[in-house]
Amino acid sequence: MSNLSQDQVEKRAAIQKSATIWGGIVGVIAGLLALWILNGQGGAIRFGGAIVIALAVGYLVFRASFKSGAKSALCENCGAAFSRSRSDRDETLASSEEKEEREEQPDKSTKVTTWTEETYDVVDTYACAKCGDTNTKTYQTTRRRDETSVVEPHAPPPPPKAPAPPSPPKAPKKPKPPAAPASKGGNSPPKKDSAGGNKK
Ligand SMILES: [Zn+2]
Repeated sequence: MSNLSQDQVEKRAAIQKSATIWGGIVGVIAGLLALWILNGQGGAIRFGGAIVIALAVGYLVFRASFKSGAKSALCENCGAAFSRSRSDRDETLASSEEKEEREEQPDKSTKVTTWTEETYDVVDTYACAKCGDTNTKTYQTTRRRDETSVVEPHAPPPPPKAPAPPSPPKAPKKPKPPAAPASKGGNSPPKKDSAGGNKK
């Protein structure tokens, strides 16, 4: 890889830089953890061990990160190293949804957060600087927009409802009065003769 173009050299430097940052961060964390774990040991062992662990972990992370960066920059078409990089990004809004989240605070108030969650279809285009081959990668990403939060003061819960009084035992249904006999003719009480006065 002695005949790298300027683009490739820059790309490699960028991958190296991010790998170094990652290795450094993770290495320092590992070293601090080692300091903490080796708390009971003497000073030399404690600090020596922490430095060794920090360097070892940092190096491993650097190597893994560089490898993955180099792999993603490798052109599958022409095999050129450090040649592939993102040339374009196209985002399309796929959906947007109103969301709300309620979170109770220690003082019993409620933090209400509302936002619009937008889902985008993203198409990233990667191009090889050497052969011009392009390929795309499609994925979805979500973003929060117009996020606002308000704190609602604690409202005492409504008093518990008094238990409903036991419903009185249902009175037995009154038996329906027997239907009047259908044959009204003979059984009906004799009508008072209203026309009595007219009787001759
Ligand atoms: Zn290529």
